[in-house]
Amino acid sequence: MTDFLGALLPFWLQIVGAAVLGAIVGSFLGAALVRLPEKRSVVTGRSACDGCGRALTIAELIPVLSWLAQRGKCRTCGGPIGGWQLACELGGAAIAIGAVWLADAGLTLAAMLMGWQLLLLALLDLRHLWLPRVLVGWLAASGIAVVAAQAWAVGSFDPILVSLTGGALGFGLLWLVAKVYLKSRGREGMGAGDPPLLGAIGLWLGPLGVVEVMLGASILGILAAIVMLVSKRSIAADTALPLGTCIAATAWPLFLLQGLG
Ligand SMILES: [Zn+2]
Repeated sequence: MTDFLGALLPFWLQIVGAAVLGAIVGSFLGAALVRLPEKRSVVTGRSACDGCGRALTIAELIPVLSWLAQRGKCRTCGGPIGGWQLACELGGAAIAIGAVWLADAGLTLAAMLMGWQLLLLALLDLRHLWLPRVLVGWLAASGIAVVAAQAWAVGSFDPILVSLTGGALGFGLLWLVAKVYLKSRGREGMGAGDPPLLGAIGLWLGPLGVVEVMLGASILGILAAIVMLVSKRSIAADTALPLGTCIAATAWPLFLLQGLG
């Protein structure tokens, strides 16, 4: 895709286009982040201020610019508004720019799709310790689709075998860890969504990628625990760390660097 667009558009215009597209996608991710946990529809209904419930105007829905214009405050009640929304819009734009800039030729669109999905999952896990099965299912399905296209392009089943091995290893590894933990400690050690998430990522990154993601996510988790300790937040053996967030935050940069498994 980069080759195709590269022939038509100068690089700076590709970056600007990616930023705008990413911010628009990010604004949908922001709506999903707020509404999915409340079981509200993501496509219908207008966003509103959390403080006073006032429905936001069309101008207030323009990604990033509306937040800057209002400095993150509601015009009616002065309450903070749109911080998570802004994070999604900037994150969505950064992912699109990163994909255009760094992904292997032919994997630009795939890198965007993977990144946007992982962004939403990472933030849902961070805020609610929740990885919706449907979203993890979409991540798995899109990974299989990208791998199948790759297999078709090279005329070999090998990419599919690598992908399925990665999926099985990712799911199996965390499923086993969860079982052993439950047996030895008598309580759940991780969210039910973590094994399926690493399985879905394994479909994208293959078995070696699964090992690398677990390594990176563990380091991130330890760093997060240190930050919590230093900031004097209470931390105990059963303090919930969003493992899914750490996994997602590691998997996407790895895909940018290495491509499919
Ligand atoms: Zn308000």
